[in-house]
Amino acid sequence: RKCLNRIKKTQHLNAYITVTEELALKQAQEAETRLLQGTPRGPLDGIPFAVKDNFCTENIKTTCASRMLKDYTPPFNATVVQKLFDQGAVLMGKVNMDEFAMGSGSTDGAFGPVRNPWSYSASYREQTEATPDSDWVITGGSSGGSAAAVASLTSYLALGSDTGGSTRNPGALCGVVSLKPTYGLLSRHGLIPLVNSMDVPGIITRSVSDAAIVLGILQGLDIKDSTTIPAASSLTELPEQFDVKNLCVGIPKEYHAPGLSEETVAQWSRVADMFERAGARVKQVSLPHTQYSIVCYHVLCSTEVASNMARFDGLEYGHRSEVDSSTEAMYASSRHEGFNDVVRGRILSGNYFLLKQNYEHYFVKAQQVRRLIAEDFKHVFSSGVDVLLTPTTLTDAACYSDFTQEDNRTRSTQEDVFTQPVNMAGLPAVSVPTALSRRGLPIGLQLIGPALQDWKLLSVAQWME
Ligand code: GLN
Repeated sequence: RKCLNRIKKTQHLNAYITVTEELALKQAQEAETRLLQGTPRGPLDGIPFAVKDNFCTENIKTTCASRMLKDYTPPFNATVVQKLFDQGAVLMGKVNMDEFAMGSGSTDGAFGPVRNPWSYSASYREQTEATPDSDWVITGGSSGGSAAAVASLTSYLALGSDTGGSTRNPGALCGVVSLKPTYGLLSRHGLIPLVNSMDVPGIITRSVSDAAIVLGILQGLDIKDSTTIPAASSLTELPEQFDVKNLCVGIPKEYHAPGLSEETVAQWSRVADMFERAGARVKQVSLPHTQYSIVCYHVLCSTEVASNMARFDGLEYGHRSEVDSSTEAMYASSRHEGFNDVVRGRILSGNYFLLKQNYEHYFVKAQQVRRLIAEDFKHVFSSGVDVLLTPTTLTDAACYSDFTQEDNRTRSTQEDVFTQPVNMAGLPAVSVPTALSRRGLPIGLQLIGPALQDWKLLSVAQWME
């Protein structure tokens, strides 16, 4: 009830697309009965959670923040959602995002932008003269609703999705912990795809130890997703004492990227020093293909988008236009009316990259570059480095008015520079809030680990927290 009340009080954030009040009260009551009888199902029994609106939920609208799916109600639950239900977790609602998870601001959904709860914090308000109505900061994205839900205490955990940084980016900008697990460790069944070869369900919580509990529950093989792999470890709790003494922390020199704010660099050095003082070895490493990552990601992303979006034709489900002069005309106008310009732009460029005469030059080349990016990481990890320490985003959260200005659109693509390479390599990464900026807004740092070392990564993250 407290969480439901907070959802009402924080409606101005626009974090929720659907609030599942009735279901939440019913599930909470059932959990309470189990708790009173002394038979809880586990650590998540009765815990309120939120789900990004691109995970299918049985009999609950799943819109992907798009007009295309605004009335779509799936007949089944995504595996990760089902696993949380099986544990007794209580669904508060489906949360806002960029349309079809394309974006890094949560400003592009059909239901309006998400506002960062920190826009209303004392720390930020003291630094700004403008009123909260004229000046508020973005959550980052595309899982902005998930991060805002956890940061504003309307849920204790939230599912996001991470294809190029969409869980870690809003996690960093909203001051919460955000984990992108190893590719395949969590099932994608029921997650409406963006880029199948990079998508992973992400976990957003208030603390690293909470993220570990959720990871322990969600991980593992799923017969409904052939890309899943067996659980990395059966651990569900992190060791209380983790010694970083023999740890080797790598600092990738290419991550000193243009546009990185001075205070983020200062945080990055402060935490690196902290590791060193605790006895870890901190060394500079090189990931030489980082510079190609953004371009390579966008070629691969658009091509998979072009093929994934083909299913939305207005016939079987999704928005259907009134134009019915021919089947082709109906397809075309349903897609024109249903998708925003970001989605349509990616479908167009994806089809362009896949044209017979362009295929080798763009698609095949991008796949080769992707391999080189993945090998950069392998090389560094096989040279004895345990984890990489990097910023999560270039700066703290931008004001909505700045972010949505036309020429800043390009900047928002650059914003993913620290997060996207990890998705191309399938590695685990976690963003941890480490400080407040001069503007009184959160700054997050990212730890990246070798594939399947999610638990070790979280242990290091907990030490850093
Ligand atoms: N910002 C990236 C994009 O627009 C990442 C999206 C994501 O991770 N879902 O594609």
